[in-house]
Amino acid sequence: MVFGRWQKVLKLAVSQNENEQFIQELKTYRRILVLAGTVYLLWWFAVKLSLPQAYNPFLSRSLVVAIIFAFLGWTYVAAWAQNNIRLLVFASVWLITAHFYYLFYENGGDSNWIVGTYITVIAINLCFVHTPSLLAYSIFVAFLSSAVVVLIPSLRDSIFLPGLLTILLQANISLRTRQGIIKNLMESNERFQLLFHSTFDGILVHENGRILNVNESMTKISGFARHELIGKSVLDILDPSVHTSVSAKFSLDDIPPYQTKGLTKDGKIIEVEVRAKPFIYDRRPAKLVTVQDMRDRKKAEEEKIKSLTLAENIRVRDEFISIASHELKTPISSLRLQTQMLEKDLRRNVNLAGGAEEVEEAVQLFKRQIDRLTELVDSMLDVSRISAGRFIIEWDEVDLVKLSRQAIDLLSTQNSSTGAPPILLHAPTELKMQGDHRRLEQVLENLLSNAIKYGAGKQITVKIGSSSEEILIEVLDQGIGIEAHAIHKIFERFERAVSSRNISGLGLGLYITRQIVEAHGGHLSVESEPGRGSNFRVHFKKSQAAK
Ligand code: ADP
Repeated sequence: MVFGRWQKVLKLAVSQNENEQFIQELKTYRRILVLAGTVYLLWWFAVKLSLPQAYNPFLSRSLVVAIIFAFLGWTYVAAWAQNNIRLLVFASVWLITAHFYYLFYENGGDSNWIVGTYITVIAINLCFVHTPSLLAYSIFVAFLSSAVVVLIPSLRDSIFLPGLLTILLQANISLRTRQGIIKNLMESNERFQLLFHSTFDGILVHENGRILNVNESMTKISGFARHELIGKSVLDILDPSVHTSVSAKFSLDDIPPYQTKGLTKDGKIIEVEVRAKPFIYDRRPAKLVTVQDMRDRKKAEEEKIKSLTLAENIRVRDEFISIASHELKTPISSLRLQTQMLEKDLRRNVNLAGGAEEVEEAVQLFKRQIDRLTELVDSMLDVSRISAGRFIIEWDEVDLVKLSRQAIDLLSTQNSSTGAPPILLHAPTELKMQGDHRRLEQVLENLLSNAIKYGAGKQITVKIGSSSEEILIEVLDQGIGIEAHAIHKIFERFERAVSSRNISGLGLGLYITRQIVEAHGGHLSVESEPGRGSNFRVHFKKSQAAK
């Protein structure tokens, strides 16, 4: 009704719910009552000092002040007074005005009292922000002024009444401007409140560690209610282990974001990221702190990784299905074609004895295609065994040199028709280690068959040696090499650095090779340059060597 919501508007971060708003307003109006009563009493001294002869009885002034303070006291004992405190403030300013006019009248319209009336009316007018209450007050003052003019004839010839009416008119006109300013302030405050409370980050304002305000997210992060946090020390919501480091930052202005440990109401320690900067709050130098719950961020990151991994897995799987179908189809088509041809020959009742050579050729082709199919299916089975954790190593004593020779012989025979130079072997007479014979054979065959496949028909060399720390097997070729960006991928499942159209393959060989080597406690590495060849290295720890 009176004084509007000035105080509330100007408070940067006001109450959040109805109840807190009510308490805030009650406090503000109580302050106004105290101010009005005190000023009216102090004015008595001012008048006594400057106008000692004036009629200014202490008793009646004290009575007015006492009534105002009684109103104030009443708000502490009665709910009605609390709920209608605006009315009590309104009644108080009317009472002060009426009493002032009484003194004015008793002083016979003295010019000093005319000035005093102007000051009183202007001061009170400035506090009104609602049109009806200002209008009612203006009519009341106009009525009192007219009555004084009637009672004191000398005032009729003065400018008292026109002056006062001008003041009232001015106050009523300028109210619109004030209302506009208040509306803008309230709107911007509401926008601020909306942002303050709807942001996901926790926000906290503190002055030397004492919490002045918090937003809703902060209450969610900490588990404390807003009223529990306000007035508390920041340290109360931090893990004791970080108290010293955090309190050292209270007085600093330029603080880079840092991670620390928050303490929730139920005693849980949570990782939070904090950013703080100087901030003027309620005209006090404070700090504005944003608090991010790392659990949320971690969860979001995990979700993101999960969905990316899922998408990547789907992509890889689809690509694999397409490559695998293509790879399996090639030998099957060839087998079908050969079978059809044989069948045709049989139908025509061809003398098979005469075509023994032809049959022999067909059988060899069948064998090769069946071997290829078996190899592909074996690779897939190995991968599924690795994924299911059923990849078992059968330990035995293995001579790596003998194993390499066998692998070189096998692959050289298989590729005898290509015209490539023989594979060179640099190795001691024997080098024994503990391992799975069949699996290590697989490692050498995979690396060698890749060297043949991607080696552009050039010289291939296998080197076997050992140092004080490790046993090293190197397979070197001078073929197409690998682009730098693909090197880290080729040891993964289904990953290939070449197009499936150029050279066939499932992208499983190196993955299986890596798994076997790692199961033996070793690791694989590669050095390669496009167009200049590759050097695949198998490193085993010396401890793996057979004693
Ligand atoms: P695949 O040979 O069936 O594609 P691998 O897992 O054995 O599968 O090899 C993965 C990829 O690594 C190959 O597709 C190829 O791009 C690359 N690669 C492997 N060995 C060599 C090599 N000796 N020279 C060049 N590239 C190679």
